[in-house]
Amino acid sequence: MTGSLITCEIDLDTPGKHAGYLRVPHSTHRSAYGWLPIPITVLKNGDGPTVLMLAGVHGDEYEGQIALSRLAQDIEPGDIRGRLILIPTLNAPAAEAGTRTSPVDGGNLNRAFPGDPAGPPTQMIAHYVEEVLMPQADYLIDLHSGGTSLYYPPTLLRGQGHTPEVAAELRKLQAAFDLPFAWVFTGGGGPTSTARTAMGAANRKGAVPVMAELGGGGVVSEDILAMTERGLRRILNALDMLPGYTPDASNGTREAHALGSVYAYDRGVFEPCKDIGDAVGKGDSVGLIHATDAVSRAPIPVVSPYAGFVLCKRALARVERGDAVFQIAEDVDQA
Ligand SMILES: [Zn+2]
Repeated sequence: MTGSLITCEIDLDTPGKHAGYLRVPHSTHRSAYGWLPIPITVLKNGDGPTVLMLAGVHGDEYEGQIALSRLAQDIEPGDIRGRLILIPTLNAPAAEAGTRTSPVDGGNLNRAFPGDPAGPPTQMIAHYVEEVLMPQADYLIDLHSGGTSLYYPPTLLRGQGHTPEVAAELRKLQAAFDLPFAWVFTGGGGPTSTARTAMGAANRKGAVPVMAELGGGGVVSEDILAMTERGLRRILNALDMLPGYTPDASNGTREAHALGSVYAYDRGVFEPCKDIGDAVGKGDSVGLIHATDAVSRAPIPVVSPYAGFVLCKRALARVERGDAVFQIAEDVDQA
């Protein structure tokens, strides 16, 4: 017994294609015996691994939500070998609101693992994923983006792998997804992970996890959506789960280690002078903050403490002290 109060309307072990809801009990003024619905689809056919694909862990990250919904609509059991579990909007209240955090309890699902079965809804969801779904999964594909406040080029995120076998699996998933960038963590992951993310949950339960940052800024990019849909099919094919699909030639992936973020220390409107992929030197001015309450004041330069290139940038112009305006990374072969 896991102690979870969340129930699943469908049987994940029955062959075929089944769609329903995870029911998260949530008793409110307008719905005393109600539950929050999280859509779930499972496809199972023959022998093969179990892949858990998540999106909508943050509700304002959209390409993954569309891509997983479309997979659920388009793939039939006969196409699949093994089992594919699709949850396009895991933090469903946040997805419905188009917000990073849940409007129900303020929770940030990707900071809530391992969760709490007796906690508020976001904690209950994290606990259910960690204790019920993740132990059944061989692989986790968790789809994100920069959300409302950040913008990422299509980027795969992965650990180094805590064993040679896991490292090889991670490289296989990265090559199959074939996104332009990969952010390779310097840590190995594995069962001792203390990360409060879905990837951390996967590591603790023995599933091989990758994550992806797919655009952001609160919009949907057709190009990135196409890359996402292609990449998911290529992953299933690489795992021998989608034998009828023929992958096209790969484009290659630029591997990088993230060095850290550049932060605003003043309030105002941020004018960037770097873009994704641009080289940055240590001490370089990467942008200006314009005070809007004192027009005569000269703009304040924002200086990078890192040398590398821009992997991620802020999507919103207004900044406060403590906001990240850029994330700087260095190429793996230079590390
Ligand atoms: Zn996210």
